[in-house]
Amino acid sequence: MKIHEYQAKEILRKYGVVTPRGIPCFSVDEAVSAAEQLGGSIWVVKAQIHAGGRGKGGGVKLARSKDEVRQTASEILGMQLVTHQTGPEGQKVRRLLVEEGADIKKEYYVAALTDRATQKVAMMASSEGGMDIEEVAHNTPEKIIKVFVDPLVGLTDAQATELANGIGVPAGSLPQAIDTLKKLYTCYMDTDASLAEINPLILEGNGNIKALDAKFNFDSNALYRHPDIVEMRDLDEEDADEVEASKFDLAYISLDGNIGCLVNGAGLAMATMDTIKLFGAEPANFLDVGGGATTEKVTEAFKIMLKNPKVKGILVNIFGGIMRCDTIATGVVAAAKEVHLSVPLVVRMKGTNEDLGKKILVESGLPIISADTMADAATKIVAAVK
Ligand code: GDP
Ligand code: MN
Repeated sequence: MKIHEYQAKEILRKYGVVTPRGIPCFSVDEAVSAAEQLGGSIWVVKAQIHAGGRGKGGGVKLARSKDEVRQTASEILGMQLVTHQTGPEGQKVRRLLVEEGADIKKEYYVAALTDRATQKVAMMASSEGGMDIEEVAHNTPEKIIKVFVDPLVGLTDAQATELANGIGVPAGSLPQAIDTLKKLYTCYMDTDASLAEINPLILEGNGNIKALDAKFNFDSNALYRHPDIVEMRDLDEEDADEVEASKFDLAYISLDGNIGCLVNGAGLAMATMDTIKLFGAEPANFLDVGGGATTEKVTEAFKIMLKNPKVKGILVNIFGGIMRCDTIATGVVAAAKEVHLSVPLVVRMKGTNEDLGKKILVESGLPIISADTMADAATKIVAAVK
């Protein structure tokens, strides 16, 4: 799960990390009064969306007067912000963060993250802050420093010092930088984050260290331990179909292809997507209806898949274990009738009550294409959409 920058900064502040003062806003008037409340003579108006790269896309702007705050706020609020992380269609801006302007002397990158390659918690830092870190990793990997943290010991003083020194924090600001790194690590661990990133962490003209931008990803499997974080969820930022699917307890992920897949079991769902690719097409989604799929759940699954205009065919791949094939077949027939199925449907089912399931499909009179093996199913659906 992701959250907005202003929420991420609230969490960081709880851990004692210094951030600019700022106020989240939902309208242009609120943005102007936020600037009044904050005082000073320079503000930053920042689009709040769950994607990075907002600066380059025109979603982060300086304002030198209240009129400019009004002007920039009305430009950014409601805009379709396109960044390298949103995809070409962009993301609509519904919230703003108005902050006091910061006096930036140097921008750094720091993050705590789960390193998949080593299966360890890593703290990463770079002197090249403010930029896209993937680009830094690609072009100048030597400018990224990584240390791996022993969870029983935590981030040691020596490690934090190595990071802060390595990115060139000046001597006078070292203690605050080290302190910030340790707080970031603690915060990352406490909140069950998979990523806690500050980019940029800045050195101000007066030597202070401040988190100017913040981003968190949380491990969804641990959210039950963090009701306060769950409250920060913003459904507007999430894929509408995925939100709808989660209401019916369906594990659904939107993808770019044109073959909808309805499968029971995550492993079989992945194997089904692989098979579709092997036969030269692309899946439109990952969908695991789970072990206890009812007719209602299968119907909802069909509705969600068919809402996607890219879907040109559907492949149902079911292994009947505890779940019986006739139950699924009944569900598929009911769903196909209810949604007035308009695309080819290939069904492969194996296992408990397989024959009964196939009989139900045949007797339904629906133009369902039956398949025997995975290869047979993939061949038939790929041919049907071409
Ligand atoms: P991102 O592009 O989505 O990562 O958004 P950031 O919050 O990181 O902002 C992008 C860039 O805008 C930063 O790297 C800074 O260079 C600049 N920026 C953000 N806040 C301020 C500020 O208070 N003062 C100045 N001068 N620049 C800022
Ligand atoms: Mn940033």
